[in-house]
Amino acid sequence: MTDTRVDVAGTPVSTQHYIGGQRVGSPRTFEVRSPLDWDWKLADVARGDADTAAAAVAAASDAFPAWAALSPEERADHLHRLADTIDANVERVAQVETVDMAMRLQSLRERLVHRGAENFRNYADLAAAHEERVWSSKGTQNRVIRMPAGPAVIITPWNAPWMLSTWKIAPALAAGNTVVLKPAEWSPLSASILADLWDEAGLPSGVLNVVQGIGEEVGAALVADPRVRRISFTGSPEAARHIGRAAAENIVPFTAELGGKGPLIVFDDADLDAAAKKAAWQYDDSGQVCLAGTRLLVQASIRDDFLDRFHAHADTHVLGDSRDDDTTITPMIHPDHLASVDGFVRRAREAGDRIVRGGHVHDGGGLFYEPTLIEPASNDSEIVQREVFGPVLTFQTFTDEDEAVRLANSTDYGLSGIVYTTSRERAERVGRAIRAGTVWVNTFLVRDLTAPFGGCRISGIGREGGDFALEFHADLKTLQILDDSTA
Ligand code: NAD
Repeated sequence: MTDTRVDVAGTPVSTQHYIGGQRVGSPRTFEVRSPLDWDWKLADVARGDADTAAAAVAAASDAFPAWAALSPEERADHLHRLADTIDANVERVAQVETVDMAMRLQSLRERLVHRGAENFRNYADLAAAHEERVWSSKGTQNRVIRMPAGPAVIITPWNAPWMLSTWKIAPALAAGNTVVLKPAEWSPLSASILADLWDEAGLPSGVLNVVQGIGEEVGAALVADPRVRRISFTGSPEAARHIGRAAAENIVPFTAELGGKGPLIVFDDADLDAAAKKAAWQYDDSGQVCLAGTRLLVQASIRDDFLDRFHAHADTHVLGDSRDDDTTITPMIHPDHLASVDGFVRRAREAGDRIVRGGHVHDGGGLFYEPTLIEPASNDSEIVQREVFGPVLTFQTFTDEDEAVRLANSTDYGLSGIVYTTSRERAERVGRAIRAGTVWVNTFLVRDLTAPFGGCRISGIGREGGDFALEFHADLKTLQILDDSTA
């Protein structure tokens, strides 16, 4: 089948799947529009079905033996070539991602596209540097070997599609698995560019496959395929439940990075201005960030001072086009998501929660929601307990450390937390007491790619990052050889 391409911000983007090194279409398509201007139709993209999923898993299965047989160093050479090709094409990825998902162009150009290349370099080097554990016991030599597991299905959400896809694909490939990537249907285009870059880097066919389509259709077919040996998912708890059932049916290891409702705790000994600035910064990317500290928990003694500073910082935000350097708040991904965010705020208002700031769809046009702050009537309010995934923060006060920790741990989520304090002892104490996969003290979003990353409770299962992801993608084997039995 001939490839079909559309021009997206000056880049020809394939609207088809990428299976076994070939562009392949589907009888049906789905429409992709730009959040920057909802009248701007970007593409009709191939809408994969069960046959597409089967073909992609077949390609990944066929390519697996040769890829798995390479040494980690040989795989690292391939992945470094991909990283170099990414770095040579930053503008292309950045321009497409900004019109497809509305992430800020400047951040993409300066950091996030390179971060994709770094993901491949880091995992390639980490896998190559791995030393097998060897020890003697009971008259035998013991050795732990990481065996590549087989084809991995990777499913990603619409926010940060480039960053999350590369972060999840890199360890699978470095570990010797082949990959079928299914990006989200609301922002599928940077995954298509990644397939092009794979091709342009001259990398082997079938090792990376990209399938486009709807989660409940092609996504569900992929995770149900018994040839798949790993499933790595990032998205909502609702979809994770479906995918987890499919994984259970085939006894396939499954990681899930899910939603969050992180606390941002400010103690009265904190650098108040730094804390208020970081709190107002949680509106960035229109709050479509799983790790965001969306529940502001502030010591009662500094309530007014904090709020004054918070509003001053929040007032400096600029709603605008993601391609403008001045913009700090970008459009939301989709009209349906804007309506969902508005629904949360409307229900909060009706339930008696107090709207302190914002509270409406922005009336200047575009897919913007006003940066919103809500003081809930109770900690049980829906707006406190459920992820909104928009520019909506809640504000609550506490009197002492115990109450701060109790409130921080009072939701079903456990992805992240942020603490502001100048006391080292308190930083250690509260940092340990918060039930979350990552806690930052006096900072936010600083990441070391070798550190474990993931969530507790409904925020997820398993850990990504560094060796944690490489071990997930491996079948570990213990090889025991009787001492003096071999020459
Ligand atoms: P979603 O769960 O609706 O979709 C995520 C992906 O799963 C999409 O590609 C979708 O097509 C696919 N999918 C949906 N149903 C499926 C099914 N039954 N079988 C197979 N695939 C299926 O999530 P979303 O709305 O795209 O993303 C937002 C969510 O992602 C938020 O909850 C956010 O917190 C979370 N998220 C978490 C992290 C993290 O690292 N913890 C990072 C980013 C986003």
